[in-house]
Amino acid sequence: MKLVKDDFIKAFSLYEEKALMHRRFKHADIIPLLGNIGSSGRFEVVEIGKSTEERLIFRLQYGHGPIKILLWSQMHGDEPTATMALFDLFNFFNGKDDGFDAYRDDIASKVTLYFIPMLNPDGTERFQRRTAMDVDMNRDARATATVEGALLKAQAMLLKPDFAFNLHNQNNYYNIPGTNMPVTISLLAPAYDYARSINETRGDAMRVIVGINKVLQEFVPKAVARYDDEHTPRGFGDNFQKWGARTILIESGAYVGDTEKMLVRKCNFVALLKAFEEIADQSFKQYSVTDYDTIPFNDEKLHDVLLRNLTIEQHGSQIVVDIAIRQIEKTIGSDYYMEGIVEDIGDLQDFYGYQDLDVSGLKFIPAKKYDNILLIEQLDHNLIQDLLHKGIATVHIKDDEAAGKLHQFPINIVSREGFLSEGLPELGSMANFFIGTDENIKYAIINGYVLDLRVSDCNPNYKNRIY
Ligand SMILES: [Zn+2]
Repeated sequence: MKLVKDDFIKAFSLYEEKALMHRRFKHADIIPLLGNIGSSGRFEVVEIGKSTEERLIFRLQYGHGPIKILLWSQMHGDEPTATMALFDLFNFFNGKDDGFDAYRDDIASKVTLYFIPMLNPDGTERFQRRTAMDVDMNRDARATATVEGALLKAQAMLLKPDFAFNLHNQNNYYNIPGTNMPVTISLLAPAYDYARSINETRGDAMRVIVGINKVLQEFVPKAVARYDDEHTPRGFGDNFQKWGARTILIESGAYVGDTEKMLVRKCNFVALLKAFEEIADQSFKQYSVTDYDTIPFNDEKLHDVLLRNLTIEQHGSQIVVDIAIRQIEKTIGSDYYMEGIVEDIGDLQDFYGYQDLDVSGLKFIPAKKYDNILLIEQLDHNLIQDLLHKGIATVHIKDDEAAGKLHQFPINIVSREGFLSEGLPELGSMANFFIGTDENIKYAIINGYVLDLRVSDCNPNYKNRIY
């Protein structure tokens, strides 16, 4: 059975796992789901080991065909998108009487699927890339110093998969070359040597990728790229390819407005269902490796904010520069806040911003701090707008206990002396300043967020912390 676009849309809407709808889910959230999946009888769910902090790691098996496919997700704890898609797939394969039984039977008879979701549960707990030992598991394929990396390698040796899928997230700043389009999915058949040679194994992985790219173009046209193909001798993908598994890296990227990456998740679901189909019926063989070469490489020229042609006055003279800002997500407990950092200053004509603003003719105005000490209860929309119009970016509140707490006010809040950056823009410093003319302030840049003061907007989605 060949799935077409409407089938994917229907399947995803039926089987999207509704218990995983934000990206900071934890190991404890997937345990009950795994119990349910196992109880259907169609999946064999086995414990293959424990993480450093003794969280259980599971392998799920579906089907009994001769072609073995091994997939693993989230070896980097802060890269959860594919894990969500794997749970969508588990639900799909547990479904019936929905028009997809022929597909399921086909896959089950020709292929055996092995899934290891959330290989780094300790990192996931902290929403960090590395393991509890602070090792990057994707640089541990050779040494296998981490228990989790050793587990994955042992599974590779035990199962000897014909195909392997290494599922990750890449950062939001990759773009399609020459455009401001973020890369939604990037793909790679990792190189098994420095010469980036193409043997039968890697060639087949490239052919599978051509098929994946083809179907993804129907969902996210022109937003698919290739990941950097430099050989990484310590990386798992590179080693799986060397061990003879046709290995495919899928990197979940970004889509404008898709903070929790639900569309990107759907793309993983579609890509994997299509890949299973083309592996099962060998139709991936129809593609050529030259088609793989037509997929553009990731470029990395996006920023969260790009301010173009900003005039800065310094020592009586004027310069005109572009300023790039990136908002770094910082974990605090089970939540997070943003730190808006000046990432680059200068001629950034060839770069792009998710928010891209030409401020020609306007000048940089340093931020000021409010003289009065307030109670947090005194802060409201009107007062903040008033302060911002006066060029005040920071208020001091009287509350010694408040530091570290999160808030959604569009102004910086400090609970003790010491203030946030107030001078000229400086690389790596927090982006707090104003833009306007001698008469009027037009924009406030508060912790990297851009507020257009002419429209008095009050976006409730700010993720700020009290300093
Ligand atoms: Zn990764």
